Amino acid sequence: MKSIKVLIVGGGIGGLALAAALRERAISSEVFERARGFGNTGSGVELTPNGVKSVDRISPRLGEAVRKSGWSSDRHAQDMPIMSWDGKLLKSREVGNFPAKWGAPMIGILRADLHRLLAEAVTGPGPAQVTVHHEAAVVEASSSGGTATVRLADGRTATGDLVVGADGVRSTLRTLVAGDVPPRYLGFTSVRGISKRPAQHGDGFVFVGPGGHFFAEAFDDTRLFWTATVNAPEHSWPDKPLGHAKADLLELWGGWSSPLAETVASCALEDMVVTDVHDCPPLKRWHTGRLVLLGDAAHPIGPVLGQGANMALEDVASLACLLAEHDIPTALRQYGRVRSRRANKIVQHSRLIARLGHTTNPLVGRVRDALIKSMKRREDTYRDKELFSYSP
Ligand SMILES: Cc1cc2nc3c(=O)[nH]c(=O)nc-3n(C[C@H](O)[C@H](O)[C@H](O)COP(=O)(O)OP(=O)(O)OC[C@H]3O[C@@H](n4cnc5c(N)ncnc54)[C@H](O)[C@@H]3O)c2cc1C
Repeated sequence: MKSIKVLIVGGGIGGLALAAALRERAISSEVFERARGFGNTGSGVELTPNGVKSVDRISPRLGEAVRKSGWSSDRHAQDMPIMSWDGKLLKSREVGNFPAKWGAPMIGILRADLHRLLAEAVTGPGPAQVTVHHEAAVVEASSSGGTATVRLADGRTATGDLVVGADGVRSTLRTLVAGDVPPRYLGFTSVRGISKRPAQHGDGFVFVGPGGHFFAEAFDDTRLFWTATVNAPEHSWPDKPLGHAKADLLELWGGWSSPLAETVASCALEDMVVTDVHDCPPLKRWHTGRLVLLGDAAHPIGPVLGQGANMALEDVASLACLLAEHDIPTALRQYGRVRSRRANKIVQHSRLIARLGHTTNPLVGRVRDALIKSMKRREDTYRDKELFSYSP
């Protein structure tokens, strides 16, 4: 057992996964989560092969549990179609052969289920202790010599060998590590939900169109989760009642092809969530002293490439392995160098795709559709090659 203690700020996907990965490597940790329970808001998460390989690296048992709980792409009866707003097929993604091609399947899983599996992975007897504190908002962190300390809103403090900021898009730790880098609004909002599988394309589908983007993927025999992104002024959608958001989505996209309208129409309001979408310019630093960032705290990203959770899991696999193998300063240097290079590139790419995906200029839209169409059926896109081939 390596006798260090890691303090983790945030019990979201990244924070809990890190606690599980460290525990697997006999490193103890304390997690500070400001919410009363573990967050299960939102619909589902698409774990792409890079994310699934990261989960396997974090803990093979967790990898097995995720495969059992989610809907793996090798169960898809058909390829996943990418369509224009009027239902014309632009490209088909052959998802069934992902394990052969990329070393892991794509897995659709409910966010709540992923959280539950991560929480289970840090509970009970194990090779190292994990203590989880709820209603424990961290307001300050500092590092001095070989130790690091967090201070909570209620005045309590805790000291360890390292503090990891896994505190999401509005991270408190980011300011301490990299200065004031506020999130920037990407110009669109996201509406997410859980619905019955539609008659057509029940395994999942993607629509691209003027001013929006729609993605849906199955997570069990009868249901799928979906994410719609819509151009809008900041706050305008999150501030309206969910019933209005659903009606507006149906009105806005009423003319779009039927699986999309059918999916939105069958979603119960309690299964819907609306959030504005932000990312962040690349940070100059990912760590300072014994403070380090991970997941959305280091690189918030829009949902267009579906990589937020996947990249947080990549960060976790990388940081946990490095901490198990090296002293802390060496681990942090290597982690910051390797992870920032990959994450910054993917965030920039996601911004570019989001701009193209959300254009309302008909000419640019036609060029985008022609580009998607021109990718031959079997040809790997940038997304597939750059993202999915990654192994932690
Ligand atoms: C509805 C929804 C659906 C998504 N779908 C996908 C998808 O399909 N694929 C994908 O890859 N990504 C998806 N994402 C993005 C993905 O969930 C995030 O990128 C991912 O959760 C990042 O993990 P994280 O641990 O860095 O941050 P989070 O999961 O946001 O966790 C941060 C945690 O820190 C806590 N916290 C914040 N500040 C403090 C503080 N000061 N003290 C203590 N605790 C604090 C928060 O309460 C939260 O629990 C989705 C996001 C949402 C909201």
